[in-house]
Amino acid sequence: MPKKTVCSFSLTLTPTLGGYLKKKLRGYDVRISTDPIDINTIDPQTEILGTFVDSKIDAAIIAKLKKLKLIVTLSTGFDHIDLQAVKKRGIPVCNVPDYGQHTVAEFALALMLALSRKIFWGVKRVKEGSYDYHGLRGFDLKGKTVGVYGAGRIGVHFIDLLAGFGTRVIGYDAFPHKELQDKHGFTYVSMNTLLAESDIISLHAPLLPSTYHVIDKKAIKKMKPGVHIINTARGGLIDSEALVWGLEEGIVAGAGLDVLEGEDLLEDRTKMLYSTLPPKLMKTVLMNEALIAHPRTIVTPHSAFNTHEAVTRILDTTIENVTAFTAGTVQHDVTQPAHK
Ligand code: NAD
Repeated sequence: MPKKTVCSFSLTLTPTLGGYLKKKLRGYDVRISTDPIDINTIDPQTEILGTFVDSKIDAAIIAKLKKLKLIVTLSTGFDHIDLQAVKKRGIPVCNVPDYGQHTVAEFALALMLALSRKIFWGVKRVKEGSYDYHGLRGFDLKGKTVGVYGAGRIGVHFIDLLAGFGTRVIGYDAFPHKELQDKHGFTYVSMNTLLAESDIISLHAPLLPSTYHVIDKKAIKKMKPGVHIINTARGGLIDSEALVWGLEEGIVAGAGLDVLEGEDLLEDRTKMLYSTLPPKLMKTVLMNEALIAHPRTIVTPHSAFNTHEAVTRILDTTIENVTAFTAGTVQHDVTQPAHK
């Protein structure tokens, strides 16, 4: 019997779906861990490595895996993998480019409604024993202006979801495609107009040097008093200190945040208290704590992508990435020029 290809998967994203993965990759020697990949425990016989964004695949791990011929990541992002090190060995890195923009758009909408109707605080109150609506008055979305920063795949899905609410939708994008306006019923405006006219601003641009802290104190000062901010994109788009300031000043009435800058530091908050962090990072941590504790924010743990359907799609594309590679076709390889 020919030797089966050794595939080592870190299945932190979906630990319960190990059986599904093994069934779909029956012809392979699939080894599953529910922990992030660790240089001390990874099997040196690994030929195909399956990883997620919480494992740092650095040059040392790649050097240890002498038989490695493919990396598959169960994510769209691949900045957790040392691409220079893999390229030197000619190892492809296959990602999941597209698993459900509507999944994230639906979550942004959920955060928006949770804020506008104070759902979280209402639920909390009832569970704590008080059945009283006073102080829970929200606002209608109908007639409000929603500003979408980054009208790409998720942004446009979010705009489509707004169609039934009777809102006016304006958008800002660094690379506008005029034809999208008529198709999806929104208007491109300048960044200053978006900041000044939006009752709700929803962020859907990637984190780039050009988008880092795009929502800073200067931007917040230009916003309509009473604005609500939704962020399901990346934490680094918002300067947390400026947002805390905006909330305290009463300019920002509420924020729904699925992502926070430096959110990885929040995973083990007790450990963090005893570690020594550079002052800038410590400040980010403190501002995150202020945002989490703030009475007018809703913070969720980067879970906008997390539906049964999206996770299954991520797993299915990953399985296809493995089987296509074995059949001689490399798909979704981010080491190739189109991804630079
Ligand atoms: P996309 O590339 O389709 O769209 C991004 C849009 O942002 C594009 O239209 C682009 O032109 C625009 N853009 C780029 N630079 C800009 C700038 N400087 N100013 C304004 N607009 C700019 O990406 P997408 O699939 O819509 O995803 C958007 C982001 O959502 C991702 O980059 C990712 O960070 C985030 N995301 C979050 C989750 C989650 O679970 N919270 C899941 C998936 C994606």
